[in-house]
Amino acid sequence: MIIAIDGPSAAGKGTIGRALALKLGLHYLDTGSLYRMVGFEVMRNNADPADSQACASIAQSLNVGSFNDADLRGEKVGSFASQVAALPQVRHALLKFQRDFAAQKPGAVLDGRDIGTVICPDADYKFFITASVDARARRRALESPSTEIAAIKAEIEARDARDSNRNVAPLKPAADAVIIDTSDLSADEVLTRVLSVIQP
Ligand code: C5P
Repeated sequence: MIIAIDGPSAAGKGTIGRALALKLGLHYLDTGSLYRMVGFEVMRNNADPADSQACASIAQSLNVGSFNDADLRGEKVGSFASQVAALPQVRHALLKFQRDFAAQKPGAVLDGRDIGTVICPDADYKFFITASVDARARRRALESPSTEIAAIKAEIEARDARDSNRNVAPLKPAADAVIIDTSDLSADEVLTRVLSVIQP
């Protein structure tokens, strides 16, 4: 079974993806972390995030087990990730890893931006998890209380715009995705809604 969860940042994809995988006994992959690994390496090597050859070569030689979760968090790495994610060569380099992951038995939950549209277009279930910019900024502010909410909102809007307007695999719901707006829902309510689609 393959479950695709797409949506913008801080909408709750990861929380729901992890809970769903645990509940259904499936593997779970946060595909954003792959782009963050590339972004982190580009940043660490002082490479140019617009240099498609340099970024693709980093993506091709990525050792996914070698990263520290704490290094990958944060908006700076997120911003680098979204710049390298706009490069077709980088997306191509990460494609096989994601498809192989999805093909594992007994199945997998993958979250990202293009899972239902590009990585797993034949997924058994597709969800597009979204929320208002204000709700997402409030959630991020709880994770980093020292940052101004206006700054967080501006970063979210900039990343949404870059992810939605790029030419390759832009952020958008698959035609057959179930869209859930989580602005006024708790994580438990979202999980109940998702499960009601999978196990009616
Ligand atoms: O989900 P997260 O915020 O960690 O993703 C970081 C960035 O990686 C996103 O802003 C997006 O540009 C990129 N990404 C992507 N496709 C995915 C997952 C993430 O382009 N499937």
